Amino acid sequence: MKESIARLTQIEVIDLLYKQTWRVAIAHPVSALLFLFWILPVANHTSLYQWFCAVLLLSILRLSLFFMYKTQRKKIDKQQFQYWKYAWMGVSALAGFAYSFAFISFVPMDKPEYVMSIGLFIIMLSSIACVGFGASYLSLLSFIIPIAVPSTIHIAIYGGYAGYISSLCIVFFSGIVLSLVRTVNAAFKKSISLNHQHSHEIEKRKIVEHQLQEISRRDGLTGLFNRRYFDEMLTTEIGRAYRNHSSLSLIILDVDHFKEYNDHYGHVAGDNCLINIAQHLSDLAKRKGDLIARYGGEEFAIILPNIDAKGAFNFAEKLQLSIQEKRIPHATSKLTYLQSITISVGVTTLPPLSKLSSDALINRADKALYEAKRQGRNRVKYYESLNVDQDTA
Ligand code: GH3
Ligand code: MG
Ligand code: MG
Repeated sequence: MKESIARLTQIEVIDLLYKQTWRVAIAHPVSALLFLFWILPVANHTSLYQWFCAVLLLSILRLSLFFMYKTQRKKIDKQQFQYWKYAWMGVSALAGFAYSFAFISFVPMDKPEYVMSIGLFIIMLSSIACVGFGASYLSLLSFIIPIAVPSTIHIAIYGGYAGYISSLCIVFFSGIVLSLVRTVNAAFKKSISLNHQHSHEIEKRKIVEHQLQEISRRDGLTGLFNRRYFDEMLTTEIGRAYRNHSSLSLIILDVDHFKEYNDHYGHVAGDNCLINIAQHLSDLAKRKGDLIARYGGEEFAIILPNIDAKGAFNFAEKLQLSIQEKRIPHATSKLTYLQSITISVGVTTLPPLSKLSSDALINRADKALYEAKRQGRNRVKYYESLNVDQDTA
């Protein structure tokens, strides 16, 4: 993780360098032009114009690099960012040498005011570079060293008294500025890195929160939703059905004579049987919006949004028959004609625009289930077709 954060910090630093590029590409030819005017009366040198053209070309190179980076930024592989940094440093070093070349070749060393001005030029250009490229210390040096080192040595050797003073000033002030930038640079990188670390932590926490939420909604044995989440969702779905003018059906089913199954095959086999049934229900109730939950021990509930009475009844029959057809052996089932696992199912439907609480709806499905049990099990009962006083539901 540390390595990936360091790389992200690097990428941000390179981004920042390129963001400054267009300003540098404008500033350099402008300052070269000023230099040209300043030196013209005393330089008496024909290659001054060629030099200016070279600075212009360097700026065009810088701008091209800037546009290439901008257009390819998204496609650049994390490993390749380093090469873009080297490219940036290469052009910077060339620009630095171009200035050094001008200071050395065109400035008359016998004129103290011109020698002193080189010192000012170097300190000014270096200070601007410190602000602009301070995010990357190495990139900063790639510009400052070529601009300052050759010309400082040159004026120290050939500039006489003014040359000594200027070179001392350059060394002193550049040293101070570079040490200041180093501190700011370290703080800057630390803050970017902390930022990345922070967002990484937030991402991790979000994943853990999501996992915890998922666990809190699920039943440990079958992996289906648990009763708490089912209750929550039933209320939500009733509200949604009401708003959408659609119907909503609820199925509650219970495994028949499961106590006997447990007693005969053991609790572990009982657990496996419940897992098997849960998987089967999940395979069948696959429509978007269907929600299956383990409602109690061997009792399951299914919310079927947008399904009318007929559809819900047919689906419930399909469930009941398909469980019967699975022929999961149940030697001690009281349904002696089958001797296999069966379920009893209660169904109820909330027609469009009807208002009913979730408890009342569950109560209806429960009543239908009770009736299915009472009439001999392994069957489906539909609440609305029962002969019950529906107001008590
Ligand atoms: P009925 O047909 O009337 O539903 O009879 P039943 O035996 O299924 O109903 P009863 O309520 O008497 O028994 C339910 C049994 O389900 C009792 C309990 O041991 C078993 N059971 C409940 N939860 C689990 C579970 O998580 N694992 C296992 N193995 N058995 C469970
Ligand atoms: Mg049962
Ligand atoms: Mg039960």
